[in-house]
Amino acid sequence: LQAEYAKLVGKPAETVDGQRISLFMNAGLRSDLPHLEATGADGIGLFRTEFQFLVSATLPRRERQTRLYEAVLAAAGERPVTFRTVDIGGDKAVPYVSEQRREENPAMGYRALRLALGREGLMKVQARALLDAAAGKTLNVMFPMVSEPWEFEAARQIVEDQRRHLIDRGADVPAQVNYGAMLEVPALAEVLDTLLPMVDFLSIGTNDLVQFLFASDRSHPKLAERYDWLSLSVLRFLKRVVDAADEANVPVTVCGEMGGRPAAAMALLALGYRRLSITPAGIGPVKAMIRTLDLADLTEAMQGWMAAGRNIRAALEGWVEMHGTV
Ligand code: PEP
Ligand code: MG
Repeated sequence: LQAEYAKLVGKPAETVDGQRISLFMNAGLRSDLPHLEATGADGIGLFRTEFQFLVSATLPRRERQTRLYEAVLAAAGERPVTFRTVDIGGDKAVPYVSEQRREENPAMGYRALRLALGREGLMKVQARALLDAAAGKTLNVMFPMVSEPWEFEAARQIVEDQRRHLIDRGADVPAQVNYGAMLEVPALAEVLDTLLPMVDFLSIGTNDLVQFLFASDRSHPKLAERYDWLSLSVLRFLKRVVDAADEANVPVTVCGEMGGRPAAAMALLALGYRRLSITPAGIGPVKAMIRTLDLADLTEAMQGWMAAGRNIRAALEGWVEMHGTV
């Protein structure tokens, strides 16, 4: 099977009916970078910058952050990279940054952008490192756990202030900066009309999103498998978001784990998603699925199943059996 996937590396992720799908990979460490070439990914759709913080005993200095981001951009070459600002706190506690206070519900606690907006120094240093690393290039930066549009705006302003500051000093800055919000807190979906005009792109973190939709801990051994990301609640939610983003002409990517599983990726494509960022190990299997998929057929079938409230996982499995898709 691995040999089969290796044959697909240089081939596009295109469906039988000619829909080109962007398949990006998720990464977070220098050691992930060789996967770009090995998998033939279209770029890095999610670079989890907190990993450098998690493996470090002390706060990584700005120069070290810059060097890592430079290495990522160099490895990607012409391929786009989307950096996510630190998602620290919750399950990713960093002793030298996180509040020492014990939290009852760390996943819903003082984490990610919430923490970063409260620790402006941290955010400024990271913004500066990203801007320096991407001088002369395109910088795509997104913020995790945006819960209300003002948080996105506040974060964007911090990066913009640093960019202005560099320009005033005559320093090199990125040729372009694109700002995105991660949608992983359900409440944000109710204010897309406000958010979408503010952002350059949207990225859906289905790991957290599904955990919050079902109020079910994503890492709890008894619960992790219990609520299906192919449930109607999740899929109807995701459908509304992709429709709103398409309507507003805002590119939207799914960067949670579900996109890396062929059956779930099929469902996402049938809902209208055309950009997935997934674990490197998923690129081969998902690309193989895409290259045998008649997406127009599946999209029509999916609409029927959703309207009828069918069990989507079972319906997809039946469809695969009939059509012989991976
Ligand atoms: C997510 O929540 O789906 C996501 C991509 O981010 P993380 O898994 O790092 O929380
Ligand atoms: Mg998340």
